[in-house]
Amino acid sequence: MDTAAVLRGSGVSPGAGYGPVHLLVGSIPEPAPGSRYQGEAAAERKRAADALERVADDLEARGAKAGGAAQDVLGAQAMMARDPGLEVGVAERIDEGVAAPRAVFEAFGKYRDLLAAAGGYLAERVADLDDIRDRTIALLTGLPMPGVPDSAAEPYVLVAKDLAPADTALLNRDLVAAFVTEDGGPTSHTAILARAMGVPAVVGCAGATSIGQGTWALVDGASGSVRLSPPRADVDALLGAAAAREAALSASTGPGTTSDGHAVPLLANIGGPKDLESALAHGAEGVGLFRTEFLFLDRADAPSEEEQEAAYRAVFDAFPGGRVVVRTLDAGADKPLAFLPPSGEEPNPALGERGLRMFRKYPEMMESQLGALARAAAGTAALPYVMAPMVATVEEASWFVSACHDAGLDTAGIMIEIPSAALRAHQLATVVDFFSIGTNDLTQYALAADRQVSGVADLQDPWHPAVLDLIALAADGAAGAGKSCGVCGEAGADPVLACVLVGLGVTSLSMGSPALPWVRAALGRHTLEQCRTAAVAARGALSASTAKDAARAELPGLADLGL
Ligand code: PEP
Ligand code: MG
Repeated sequence: MDTAAVLRGSGVSPGAGYGPVHLLVGSIPEPAPGSRYQGEAAAERKRAADALERVADDLEARGAKAGGAAQDVLGAQAMMARDPGLEVGVAERIDEGVAAPRAVFEAFGKYRDLLAAAGGYLAERVADLDDIRDRTIALLTGLPMPGVPDSAAEPYVLVAKDLAPADTALLNRDLVAAFVTEDGGPTSHTAILARAMGVPAVVGCAGATSIGQGTWALVDGASGSVRLSPPRADVDALLGAAAAREAALSASTGPGTTSDGHAVPLLANIGGPKDLESALAHGAEGVGLFRTEFLFLDRADAPSEEEQEAAYRAVFDAFPGGRVVVRTLDAGADKPLAFLPPSGEEPNPALGERGLRMFRKYPEMMESQLGALARAAAGTAALPYVMAPMVATVEEASWFVSACHDAGLDTAGIMIEIPSAALRAHQLATVVDFFSIGTNDLTQYALAADRQVSGVADLQDPWHPAVLDLIALAADGAAGAGKSCGVCGEAGADPVLACVLVGLGVTSLSMGSPALPWVRAALGRHTLEQCRTAAVAARGALSASTAKDAARAELPGLADLGL
């Protein structure tokens, strides 16, 4: 690739980042069958044994740094790397003349087959074993190490085909200048994660994984451009403009409100207690979406009630007097939980067993989660709200709300993220205590565009007037029954769209914490009437992009935020 090229994708997390590219390697190519080494067998055996030991040491060190569940997972992986049987298997092949990388590949292959054949929990360890194999082969061959680096001389631009939550569990924010992924759309988990971490990000960037390792890249997370080997003057200009905007934002503080005093509580989306510091630092008035499944993504077994209760209590305790909306487990599709598997292979997981549907299948898990929530909520100074994801029918909503009320959880609501729920919001509003619109899934289902498929990323745009119509239906339905209707999808993190949502009748906005100052500043520069006019203009447009243009034309205060 031309080292001075400019690549383009969707800018999904504003800000500018500059650094050398670290390409996240998915897998290491198989060492050629029959490859042989020169020299002494003993030296080759030592090379292999040293590489395995270094991999084990590294996994342990990373675990110690991360702590918690990640430490258990990485510690178990280190033990696998030190398995004496494996080392013997490698040595035997080396004694037959096979080069160390190939000997490692073959010896691991045998173990891999055994684990896979054992099924269940053991079969799920195959990916861990592959990771150790790839790391060892990378060391032996000088290929870049797979996975995210945990040390670097300067912050790097992390480039990958896509980023899974597991890839980024150990990511050190201070070492990452920006994310660039070849796949993914604005509602992919890379985008959500980037905004949650405040890392500039570009997704759906064609050609990203062909950028050479170590190439310096300048990433503009607003416009979606990725400039390779840019001149210093361009770097200074972009980083300078980003810093000036940051300063303007830090000047806007306090509760969310339009310029004429219409209160719009601004809440944080979190994945667990670890995100509280950022939520508080960015002035969140509470939590609008606690994605509880994020606590357990790397877990093989269901968490105990005690463990859950502690995590929920930590979050409640952070917001005395504030609303804390906890979403029950949204397992399935893009957020699979090993302990809540679907019944079988699903050709379209987004349309399969996920969210509340899993609680139908695993009622004991619902009982355990609601029980833990009720105990954490008892006596808390926060205002605990509980809601279910993926609700399609009035019957499901009634079932969930009754279960919450029976468990002693008084404020129970649902997410509006399936078009049927938005269309029937007026009926749903009579059986629930509140709504929260999940615009990521609502957009996915309204436009039939899988949020994990970058080929349809241009359709995954919550600005589409069809999505705005569904949001308006939900907000009207809630208002008719005197209930609140927030937005907790990523649409709320777009400061321009946030104004439109308020104009559509949305009563609170929840987002990844770093977006809070942007939304606070944008709302504070406009009246409620201006927001309503912008909403009418957007709904009258023919497409997502003209809807955005039409809304912007009615929101003059955006200019001083550089939006
Ligand atoms: C949504 O769908 O908008 C939402 C907030 O839920 P998630 O992104 O976790 O599916
Ligand atoms: Mg959702």
